[in-house]
Amino acid sequence: MSGDDTKSAGPLDGRPTEVSFADLGLRSELLEVLGDLGYEEPTPIQREAVPPILAGRDLLGQAATGTGKTAAFALPVLQRLGPAGSRSRPTALVLVPTRELAVQVSEAVHRYGRSLGARVLPIYGGQPIGRQLQALHRGVDVVVATPGRALDHIRRETLVLDDLEVVVLDEADEMLDMGFAEELDAILESTPASRQTVLFSATLPARIAGIARRHLRDPVRIQIARTSAAPGEGPLVRQSAYLVQRAHKPAALGRVLDLEAPTAAIVFCRTRNEVDQLTGTLNGRGYRAEALHGGMNQEQRDRVMARLRNGTAELLVATDVAARGLDIDHLSHVVNYDVPSAADAYVHRIGRVGRAGRQGVAITLAEPREHRLLKNIEQVTKQRITVEKVPTVADLVARRLDLTRADLREAILEDDLERFRVVVETLSDEFDLVQVAMAAVKLAHEAGGVPDDDQDIPDVELRSPPPAAAGRTSGAGGKQARRAAQGPMTRLFIGAGRKAGIRPQDLVGAIANESRLSGRQIGAIEIQDRFSLVEVPEDAADEVVAALRASTVKGKRQTVRRERGDTG
Ligand code: AMP
Repeated sequence: MSGDDTKSAGPLDGRPTEVSFADLGLRSELLEVLGDLGYEEPTPIQREAVPPILAGRDLLGQAATGTGKTAAFALPVLQRLGPAGSRSRPTALVLVPTRELAVQVSEAVHRYGRSLGARVLPIYGGQPIGRQLQALHRGVDVVVATPGRALDHIRRETLVLDDLEVVVLDEADEMLDMGFAEELDAILESTPASRQTVLFSATLPARIAGIARRHLRDPVRIQIARTSAAPGEGPLVRQSAYLVQRAHKPAALGRVLDLEAPTAAIVFCRTRNEVDQLTGTLNGRGYRAEALHGGMNQEQRDRVMARLRNGTAELLVATDVAARGLDIDHLSHVVNYDVPSAADAYVHRIGRVGRAGRQGVAITLAEPREHRLLKNIEQVTKQRITVEKVPTVADLVARRLDLTRADLREAILEDDLERFRVVVETLSDEFDLVQVAMAAVKLAHEAGGVPDDDQDIPDVELRSPPPAAAGRTSGAGGKQARRAAQGPMTRLFIGAGRKAGIRPQDLVGAIANESRLSGRQIGAIEIQDRFSLVEVPEDAADEVVAALRASTVKGKRQTVRRERGDTG
């Protein structure tokens, strides 16, 4: 497999080379779209893969999700499309292992190809075949399909591959793991012999070599460089990652920043657009964040840097390109809002903290599908990245209660409470002392500010590896596995929600008061208008239901039961 022509994406000295998308030879329509999407420069895999694919070569690439491999094959495929209207049958077929990926990849290809009027169709099992037939009949340029459904259509002759120019096998190792080997052979055999074939795979086991031997012609081989940090060079950095779905990233980042309380941090994003959006969101949440990207002129950049240096801004939200060459010496945290597309970019980014013997913190927000990139980074840096759980509303409530408790303890020890004695004594004629104290604590607590977001961020599990690959994710997934070992959770339905003024802390309070559970054992909380859902450990669920039924939440008896459809 390792021929002399194997190219390494990423220079060996770990410093990024500056190659633009225009240097890769892409047509102007595509360059324009990339600019609109806020992409500032090609990722290593794009730098290496685009030119040979454009030149018509077959390609065998080792790249995981998150490296930018979709654009690496989509851009050259789109470059081939003739003028809209001149095309009827598919030019390209992209095969992917799952329906999720079929949808994702076809959305990406559609996005990159919008100025060319590219017609992209995802086809996968489980979707009504009628809709697929209509779309195929109208004409499609790029079909993104799972192997089973693709073969169905080929056999029915509803997918005609006579004009096909390119076949892409995306995540080929996953397709093999899922048992699609025969389908892949059959599909490839029904495509024109003149076609170009591109194969991407996160790993390159012998079975991939077999497919490559049978179906690729003299392929260019590309591998993401396994640059290692020089020994002793590793910065003093605590490295954590949080697994979170894209939609929940802004909220998750807010929570993590609340807990970490950085003095100054740089938050790296992939694109210019993401930088602008996230800066807006963070400012809306009360942080002082500044954007820095390649679209800004020198004067604007200088202004931003001055605000960061003099402490007017605490967060700098930047792309790699913009942050290159910046020298900021008082950073406490580096945050990767996305996993960087290559390990050397990660090493570069976190090199900005933990300098001069000070301890720095590197935090990475990763989508579950990017876990492999995290593993890769761990291997390259030879340092552990601990996967942590995004703080839940219950965690924040518990932490705020801790802070209130600490404040109260301090107030008691300060011993200047005499002037309040009369208030307590008069109230104690009427109420129990504990009740008086609880009311006072409540006021103190609420004066400290209550959480402004009450929706929990769903805990994500790693996509379970196929049996053949079991164990591959153990590093990044260790934390998740430990959580699972704590036992299954069950969701409870409570018949009151936002309209009844229910807040997460009411539910945490009621459950912690009425059952043996502590706040930390309570999982995700979801408050809807008319009801709420709370996750509790399965083995305590009946006890919690009984206890809550026998008591009140927000002063009222509420319907409490296991969520319907929850068979646990
Ligand atoms: P992929 O590995 O293809 O799943 O891509 C991972 C993510 O990176 C996607 O969200 C892309 O939109 C984004 N992306 C791909 N190429 C670039 C680039 N050159 N610059 C910035 N973002 C990119």
